[in-house]
Amino acid sequence: MPPSPEGRRADLARVAELKAISPTRWRELYWSAAGGSPSVHALAVRFGVADRTVKRLLVAAGLRVRTYAEQQTLERRRGRWKEPATRPGNPRLGIWWEETPKHDPRRKRALANLKRGRRPGKNRRRETKPCGWCGAPVTRIPSQFTIAGAFCDRSCAAFLTAHMRYNPDRPRPLIIEALRTALGTRPPTWEHLEPLIERFGATEEEALLLADTLKP
Ligand SMILES: [Zn+2]
Repeated sequence: MPPSPEGRRADLARVAELKAISPTRWRELYWSAAGGSPSVHALAVRFGVADRTVKRLLVAAGLRVRTYAEQQTLERRRGRWKEPATRPGNPRLGIWWEETPKHDPRRKRALANLKRGRRPGKNRRRETKPCGWCGAPVTRIPSQFTIAGAFCDRSCAAFLTAHMRYNPDRPRPLIIEALRTALGTRPPTWEHLEPLIERFGATEEEALLLADTLKP
């Protein structure tokens, strides 16, 4: 159900109140031992906002957010740690096992695979392609590449979408940067550029454009 206008106003009011909290106070709330070393989630529940809102405000206050492992250590020390739900003896089945209905055939298959020590998908063929936005190598099961190509994550995909929309005639800046870095001090000849085009998924136009800018 979408949030009602009143509900959204109340949320925004809460966030505005949190934004008024000083960095010193945030430090007390989150980092001081007297504050109880609450997790980001605990603070979020206390203030009735999303986890990411608290995290954003902590970062804005110049504070470091504890890693999961650090928070876990503190939770254990303070006796607040609850073991995650797992099936006794078969920790690999985990929460999924608890949540999947008893009659679901996938349960039977998972248990059979576990007994035989098989890990489906672990031996699947994988391919590596350059990311369409930044050129970094992306390794996946072939079916997990999108139609548009390979991307590190949604962020890279979104950057390319925006780029194609507003600057369709310009080269992709990160690809150019990757080519330039890999080329190093070598002259921008076709002989040197060709293998890089494949490695970073650059177009010939992009490579030629770079060669032009590098010409003395
Ligand atoms: Zn990328």
